[in-house]
This record gives sequence, structure tokens and C-alpha cells, in this order.
Amino acid sequence: MEAAKRKILVLGPCAAESREQVLSTARRLLSEQAGAAHLIIFRAGAWKPRTSPDSFQGVGAEALAWLKEVKNTCHVPVATEVATPEHVRKSLQAGIDYLWLGARTSANPIAVQAVADELKAAARKPLAVLVKNPVNEDAALWLGNIARIEAAGIPVMAVHRGCQHHPCWAMAHRLRQERPDIPLLLDPSHLTGNSQLVAKALEKVPQLALDGAMVEVHSDPAQALSDAAQQLSPEQMAALLPVVLAPQADDAGLQWFRAEIDELDDRIWDTVLQRLRVCEQIGEWKHRHHMQPLQPERFEQILHGRQAWGESHDISPESVAAILSAIHAESLRRQ
Ligand code: PEP
Ligand code: MN
Repeated sequence: MEAAKRKILVLGPCAAESREQVLSTARRLLSEQAGAAHLIIFRAGAWKPRTSPDSFQGVGAEALAWLKEVKNTCHVPVATEVATPEHVRKSLQAGIDYLWLGARTSANPIAVQAVADELKAAARKPLAVLVKNPVNEDAALWLGNIARIEAAGIPVMAVHRGCQHHPCWAMAHRLRQERPDIPLLLDPSHLTGNSQLVAKALEKVPQLALDGAMVEVHSDPAQALSDAAQQLSPEQMAALLPVVLAPQADDAGLQWFRAEIDELDDRIWDTVLQRLRVCEQIGEWKHRHHMQPLQPERFEQILHGRQAWGESHDISPESVAAILSAIHAESLRRQ
């Protein structure tokens, strides 16, 4: 499948909670989208893979009828998440158009293969399966999952939702480079976990020349039974459409590397901060034991070890010394 020219927007609540919530979200969303030049797919999770058994697990198969009602009354294709062959069977029987594999299922190739086998045998096929990246940073596993679904003869779209603690742009970049032929969507809701950050994250769609977005939209986000902090109201989503549909950057190739650099800088500074905090604890320990904050032989040992490492990676001893000295000076200042 060639990367779609029309943007693809997969919008709807994290979970289908009630018929009323599903239909009112869909009606409010779609009344704002009349005549849209992009493809809208309405989403809602029937079965929710939650971390805790005490959290809302989704209403299950009952939600499929509500999605079907959205499909028939609002005339949009509908999507739900599947994690087992039974989910696939029930969803296809109910007339669900698109299926998606969530990040937790994507972490388990046996579960993905079971879904793929069911899809291969199914009399009625979905229009496509959306494959989210696994919760852990593993581009090869994501690509492998895509290959499993394709081997069942089903078109695939990839959805980048980041990992637990990082956006992992390098993983999405690799997906884009190795599979430029499949649509790649961004899920800014799970990427940020925060409705306030969704708008900024959506700017990446035109910047990185992505094919669209999957965004969580709820009729009453504050009352949502799952992912309340990250869902938008239908009106908030409508206001963000120009961000998603802005003209694509012609330097997307450069922007991908910049996204990677910005993330690496975040990780470096976070690590520097963590290191400084440990140094503060060392300072307290030394104080209690009447030791001087500066232990020159320890610093020399760290410096020479790192310079030897630097040489094997073509980093000059002067650069290593400059970086380490700056960090060390800040540590001493805090001790
Ligand atoms: C979801 O889309 O509601 C979901 C569970 O997402 P993820 O698998 O990315 O956590
Ligand atoms: Mn969710």
C-alpha cells in the first residue's frame, strides 16, 4: 500500500464505556468534521489491556454493537483493539472495519501470531490492521509483528505511541526507513499521557510527514474510566485539526534526526540531573565521615577510564576531559 496522501485520523475514546458515551462522542466529533478531506475512522476499545486487575477492563463484546451503530448512523468506518483470536472473531462478525494491536499485545509475538492465524482463516477480513509499537523499545519486534499480519494477507498501518518513559523517535524513524510503503500514524495521547501536551505532539505529523494520527477523544474526558488525563473533548480535537492537516514539511528527513537529537538531549540532561543527585548523597556521606568533598585520585581514575573509552569511540581526550570536568565542578558545588 502506498503511503496515503489523505491524512488518516483515528479518533474516539480510549474505551467504550456505554452506548450513550460512544454515540455522543461520535456525533459531536463527526458533526465537526463534515465534508472532511481526510479519512476518519472512529475508535473505541472494547477489551482494555490494563496494568491492574482493579482498573476498568472494558465492557467487552457488548461495545461492538455500539460501534456498529456509529458505523450505520454516522457513516464512518469503526475500529477496535484485539488481543486474542476470540476478539478478532467477534469484532469481524460484528462488522468492525479496522482492528488494532495494542502496545502490550505487540510485545508478545505468540499473541500476535495467534491473531494473524485467525485473520488468515477469517471469511470476513478487516480493511487493515493497525499495529502499535511494543511497550518496550524494539523496532525489530514491531517490524516482525507487521510482517506476521501481512503474511495473513491483511493490509497494515503502523502506529507510533512511544514507550513507557520515552518517545523513542529512533524506533519510529527506523520503521519509516525500512517500511516507507506503509502508513505511519502518531498516537500523541499515549505518547504524552497528558491532554495538555497532545497539541504540541501533533505538530510532528506534518513535520515528520506522517500519514495521520490516532487520538483519544472522549465526550467527558474528566469522567473517563481509563486514560482520563490524556483524552480530548470532541471540540478540543476539532480545534487541533489544522495542526494535523498543516502542509507537510519538505525537510522531514532532517526533522526526523532533530526529533532523535532532542530526545537524546532530554535523556542526557535527565541522566546528568540524576548523577548530581547521587553526588549530593555522596556529599552527605563524606560530611558525616569527615572526608573532603574532593578526592583527586577518584576523579583521575574516572577521567582516565573514560578517556580510554573515548579513544575507542573516536572522542578526543580533551572533549572527554571538558565534559567530565564541567559535570564534576557542578557536583562539587553541590557537595
Ligand atoms: C489504546 O489505544 O487505548 C491503548 C490501549 O493503547 P496502547 O496499546 O498504545 O497503550
Ligand atoms: Mn488508552
